[in-house]
Amino acid sequence: MDPRCIEACQAIFLPEDYRIAELSVSTAALFPDQAFRGRCLVTLGEHYTELFQLTPAMRTAFLDDVTRTAEAVFRALKPIKMNYELLGNQVPHMHWHIIPRFREDGVYPKPIWANELPRTTLLPAERDALIATLRRHLR
Ligand SMILES: [Zn+2]
Repeated sequence: MDPRCIEACQAIFLPEDYRIAELSVSTAALFPDQAFRGRCLVTLGEHYTELFQLTPAMRTAFLDDVTRTAEAVFRALKPIKMNYELLGNQVPHMHWHIIPRFREDGVYPKPIWANELPRTTLLPAERDALIATLRRHLR
């Protein structure tokens, strides 16, 4: 973690088991709650909290990382739409939520926060298989 990180940042630096890939300026990982199957986090390596704090080059690289991850999820799982969230209210360290949306996901077409879905944790074998599939689709 960046030495500037605060305690709250710990929550988004997921264990190795969830990591998909180290990207240009960020890390892609499978989100532990898979209520939305394929949901990922793309976490910036350095501690910044707002897009406007990044240099243009870093912002472009970060968006490229987000785009690569989203495309991999899209190609692997074939959702009808990708959703992107950059909130940071609870963990200010910049991390995008990349969420594939399906007609049968229980909330679609509303935003993912419209209904509270039960937390879904994949079994390790299922999680590892999904991560392997996403890695294969990462360009
Ligand atoms: Zn941080």
